[in-house]
Amino acid sequence: MIRPMRPVIVAGNWKMHTTPADAGELARTIAARTRVDGVVRVLCPPYVCLAAVRDAVADTDVAVGAQDVHHEATGAFTGAISAPMLAGLATWTIVGHSERRRDACETDELIGRKVVAARGAGLRTILCVGEQLADREAGRARAVVDRQLWGCLTAVDPAALNGDDPLGFSIAYEPIWAIGTGRNARGADAAEMVAAIRTTLAAIGLADGGDGVPVLYGGSVASSNINEFMAEPSIDGALVGGASLKPDEMAAIVARAGLTAAARAAAAT
Ligand code: PEP
Repeated sequence: MIRPMRPVIVAGNWKMHTTPADAGELARTIAARTRVDGVVRVLCPPYVCLAAVRDAVADTDVAVGAQDVHHEATGAFTGAISAPMLAGLATWTIVGHSERRRDACETDELIGRKVVAARGAGLRTILCVGEQLADREAGRARAVVDRQLWGCLTAVDPAALNGDDPLGFSIAYEPIWAIGTGRNARGADAAEMVAAIRTTLAAIGLADGGDGVPVLYGGSVASSNINEFMAEPSIDGALVGGASLKPDEMAAIVARAGLTAAARAAAAT
């Protein structure tokens, strides 16, 4: 059987940066400077900037994502935003980012419920996993990521994750020690973890042994190191934090991702 090629995705996580007054202009600039065939582009601004970014990229194929969703649809959850509330504002969401695991004490079980809520509302969902530096140094990185995947996905019906949409569910492998530190993982180490992630997805019961699930790398991705990741056949793109606020950086990152997308398309013909 010929496997459909996995998509190449570059998602920008703007974290707690930009305001409704300036987010639209930044999104417009990035959209114009990252027009590259074959690369799925997603911008994830703060909630309050979603409408501005949506309007700014309305005439492009740039998608808009949230940075998180609540695990319930409605209720007494002060300050929270649910997946159904994002209708008309965003078509993607990140869940389980390490900054939310750290700051909001999110557990794997809770994140799994967010995955269900997001997919149930039709949001394309990027689930973040990744180890601490101490885990890597102690040789526990794979065990930690494995535990996160099982913890997040055990209660999720694997069929509900992707369905017929190859972009429905993705993983971002983000070693915590590489996030916002300027210290990125080596491409080969990231690729080894991505292979391990797919092995675990298969064990969890994802269709096609998890082979169709896009797995992105995240952690201090920049124009200077994107080649290292996109040169690895198992890595399907990047979740970019700090550099996603810089149009020059995003232009170079998406351009490099486009080379991988073109090579995959050529190999598939
Ligand atoms: C992120 O926010 O997911 C991230 C990887 O951040 P940075 O690229 O800044 O390390």
